[in-house]
Amino acid sequence: MHERVSEVFSRVVKASGWDRRYQWEHTIIDEPKTINAGIYPGGKMVMFSGMLNFAESDDKLAAVIGHEAGHAIARHGGERFSQVMAAQLTETSLGLALASSRSAPYVHAAFGLGVTFGVLLPYSRLHETEADYIGLILAAKGGYDPRAAVELWERMEREKGSRIPEFMSTHPAPGTRARQLTKWMPEALQYRHDPYRPLPLGLPGS
Ligand SMILES: [Zn+2]
Repeated sequence: MHERVSEVFSRVVKASGWDRRYQWEHTIIDEPKTINAGIYPGGKMVMFSGMLNFAESDDKLAAVIGHEAGHAIARHGGERFSQVMAAQLTETSLGLALASSRSAPYVHAAFGLGVTFGVLLPYSRLHETEADYIGLILAAKGGYDPRAAVELWERMEREKGSRIPEFMSTHPAPGTRARQLTKWMPEALQYRHDPYRPLPLGLPGS
């Protein structure tokens, strides 16, 4: 399963043009019941094996990885880390953060970044939308079918609940999300047909 992630991860990262700007890495945590993934600033991605099974095709996996890479490229992580730091200030929030992020010790162990917990705190809705857009383009440019994203996120919406902590917390309403993806799809498909097409203006690094 590592090979499958490696392959998709490296194709998506290469498509972003950011392959040399970050030290991209990925770790898979063997927790089949956890459908989740996250990324640190600088491109270190953590994926739970539950997500790997959930995204059963490489096209869907590319949607997840593209989305995570999108967060890293758009530098959404900085804010998240300040939230983590803020949370460390009081014991009450410490308790809350630990309770809401069962996976944190694993993540911590995975990269030894000295962050105690809370790596999976939610992004803002705007950041989720940005990551969706960037993810769609990167997956397509990496040679994957961007249309798989629609089905993936719809299915995830149906599975919503404690099984999917990060992905569902601040994501756009399902109807909105599907509408946005559909709106961006013709553009994404152009990247699938022509991977050398320059990235859209406004996309970080373009
Ligand atoms: Zn996200």
